[in-house]
Amino acid sequence: KGDEIYKSLIANAEKLGVKNQVQIVKTGCFGFCERGPIVKVLPEDSFYVDVKPEDAAEIIAEQIVKGREVPRLLYKGDAEKKSNTAVEDIEFYQKQVRVVLRNCGVINPENIDEYIAREGYLGLEKVLFQWTPEQTIEEMKVSGLRGRGGAGFPTWMKWDFARKAPGDVKYVICNADEGDPGAYMDRSTIEGDPHSVIEGMITAGKAIGSHQGFVYIRAEYPLAIERLKIAIRQAQEYGLLGKDILGSGFDFDIEIRLGAGAFVCGEETALIKSIEGNRGMPVPKPPFPANKGLWQKPTIINNVETLANVPVITNKGGAWLAKIGTEKSKGTKVFALTGKIKNSGLVEVPMGTTLREIIFEIGGGIKGGKKFKGVQTGGPSGGILTEALLDTPIDFDTLVKNGSMMGSGGMIVMDEDDCVVDVARFYMEFCVDESCGKCSPCRIGTSQLLAILDKIAGGNGTEADLEKLETIGKAMSKASLCALGQTAPNPTLSTVKNFREEYLEHIRDKK
Ligand code: SF4
Repeated sequence: KGDEIYKSLIANAEKLGVKNQVQIVKTGCFGFCERGPIVKVLPEDSFYVDVKPEDAAEIIAEQIVKGREVPRLLYKGDAEKKSNTAVEDIEFYQKQVRVVLRNCGVINPENIDEYIAREGYLGLEKVLFQWTPEQTIEEMKVSGLRGRGGAGFPTWMKWDFARKAPGDVKYVICNADEGDPGAYMDRSTIEGDPHSVIEGMITAGKAIGSHQGFVYIRAEYPLAIERLKIAIRQAQEYGLLGKDILGSGFDFDIEIRLGAGAFVCGEETALIKSIEGNRGMPVPKPPFPANKGLWQKPTIINNVETLANVPVITNKGGAWLAKIGTEKSKGTKVFALTGKIKNSGLVEVPMGTTLREIIFEIGGGIKGGKKFKGVQTGGPSGGILTEALLDTPIDFDTLVKNGSMMGSGGMIVMDEDDCVVDVARFYMEFCVDESCGKCSPCRIGTSQLLAILDKIAGGNGTEADLEKLETIGKAMSKASLCALGQTAPNPTLSTVKNFREEYLEHIRDKK
């Protein structure tokens, strides 16, 4: 639809002879998906929502030709109380702090000049000409940035391990193999601001002494791949990639590798195997990729969101990012807010924001006036957080403490009509499909858990099955080879713990 609106705006501007008076550009995601497609007109800052291709004629005729807004398309606020035109007046954005998404919905992602005009590649100048690799890593340390792919490992430490690892050939990999159901943070970041990821990769390359980067991205993301290709080509044309970057004597280039959509390939060692041309299966760690990674060479793997933070840190300083967030989790986190929520969309909030603020203030609460039941964070690796945890400030550590995890940022909200046994089954089915089968705790454990969940959901379960779910789940967490199997029981374990009564209802409700 966005493409149709774009074409229609151009056609109408041509028809009314104002094509030269207006620049019509495609941007990345505004985040406010619930009310999309969105058209924003500058400099008036008119924010049009739920736009249809047939609205294009009126927008051009009224706003561009006559200089007046189209009131019926303007966002009016949740209560339809007032007419808001400025983005900062829109409730959905008020609690958000857009660091990673700073350019999404603002610039044309297919134009490198627009990224540069927004302080793009400024930080890289320092990295190439002013700082030693050690200073760059120190700046990362000051920022407190932790990996946004799920585990929350300190980024500076990963870079430092790879920098210190012996060898002249090292690699930087951007993990864009986003696979959690309901998650689309990385896709939107690349679609909306591909240069921020490229700049982050060049910075990482200079810091660890690597001259080659790879973006591992799933083939199901055609627009992100297309925009990434355009951005890489433009960066090469501007001398920002390739030999002797900007005359600094540093060489670095980036290639794209397409993944076939296997969830397990988001795991570092499986991803490396996949790039090497092998079947994407995890291998035991250590050795860690920072010492022996791609083709046995020191390699760092950072996720899209982590890398998109890097240019902000190098440009504004690590201390700037460290002011945002909590003591142990600095900066912001992007979440894909979906499920039974009024304002579904892509949101970016400071670490430490509570679930209540995200769900009820930014998200506008539960759809249809229903009661909140729980929220799944961390996708198939996470757990369901209940109402009692709504006021918990969320960061890497509090989520783990409460039986879930940050994951890459999927957040699925459930209402009173959702059945937690069905939810646990859905995620377990996903894990059965995605388990690579290499180790028995995961291969057999996921199937067994699914069989028991099926039995309970079908009205044939017993209380002893709940004990089995817990025993098998805990064994899998301890014995599985990689994070997929170690975390696959989480949705089941968290629901058995937090919603035991609902499981018991299914058991009592025998067929
Ligand atoms: Fe494969 Fe699962 Fe074992 Fe990971 S835990 S290696 S996905 S079988």
